[in-house]
Amino acid sequence: MQNRITSLFGTQYPIVQAGMIWCSGWRLASAAANAGCLGLIGAGSMYPDILRENIQKCKAATSKPFGVNVPLLYPDIEKLMEIIVEEGVKIVFTSAGNPATWTGFLKEKGVTVVHVVSNTKFALKAQDAGVDAIVGEGFEAGGHNGREETTTLVLIPMLKEKITIPLIGAGGIGSGKSMLAAMALGADGVQIGSRFAASEESSAHANFKNAIVAAGDGATQLAIKPLTPVRLLKNKFFEKINAAELRGAGKEELQEILGRARAKLGMFEGDLEEGELEIGQISGIIHEVKPVKAIVEEIIGEFKQVQQELGKIEF
Ligand code: NDP
Repeated sequence: MQNRITSLFGTQYPIVQAGMIWCSGWRLASAAANAGCLGLIGAGSMYPDILRENIQKCKAATSKPFGVNVPLLYPDIEKLMEIIVEEGVKIVFTSAGNPATWTGFLKEKGVTVVHVVSNTKFALKAQDAGVDAIVGEGFEAGGHNGREETTTLVLIPMLKEKITIPLIGAGGIGSGKSMLAAMALGADGVQIGSRFAASEESSAHANFKNAIVAAGDGATQLAIKPLTPVRLLKNKFFEKINAAELRGAGKEELQEILGRARAKLGMFEGDLEEGELEIGQISGIIHEVKPVKAIVEEIIGEFKQVQQELGKIEF
């Protein structure tokens, strides 16, 4: 499979394994790279020395291309960028911030830069800032989400009308069928998160992986909208913060309920009641924790099969 995304990243498939806090360390990123995708280390949950260690272990575990995802809200961002350049990482995905801040610096160092957006305004801003590609992430996605609540089905063709650089669709994509659908809508590739969060190589706690597998229809919901919308698995913590939001609690009170390190508590330490469990709607159709290689083979096999079946339709 050759297209603008495989050429940009040097991968076999136009599939990006999303950089997810507490899930995507070197094991997941290198397994995704070895399976023909672009693997991403999620730097959002890593102190600088931990990121360096993960990059070094990833380099030792794969000779294939991999990158790092950096949420631009990160407190020690200068330090992270320094490490990324020092360690010779060639691909960086940025999210949750202004793409103009770091794109020039990274491009000067020869790094391919991709920015994650949820609307056309920021897609155009990222394109103007000189990024090489855009991830358009729709409402279905887990974790931090756009305020506009535009679904992936609508976001991809909207972005495609406006931008000329390669477009990666994300949000609700975890199978060959959904990958084909995203590409039919105009995406050049896809970014897949939740399906890989529930892989054997994900660094998430086994309790969280099992909760993803157990999730069904309606198991996730956008929450904490006055602070920043985040899609969560519904649990005791979700019910508490959602009730506060519904009765009109202000930002300060919501921040107090959220506290600190709740995502770590849920996703990494496995507290399914009090932790923040960030995952996408697609968790409702993830039924098994599997190795990354098997997941990718299943996605590609299904993509080809459905593509062939659709090709037989006559009008
Ligand atoms: P909190 O403020 O609640 O806690 C910070 C967490 O990040 C702690 O668990 C801490 O680990 C860890 N951490 C890693 N590096 C640092 C550092 N340099 N300084 C302080 N803490 C650090 O934040 P969240 O857990 O809600 O979010 C963490 C990051 O992940 C943020 O940058 C956020 O923007 C990003 N994020 C991105 C999402 C996405 O979808 N792209 C979704 C959610 C969050 P420890 O407990 O060991 O101190």
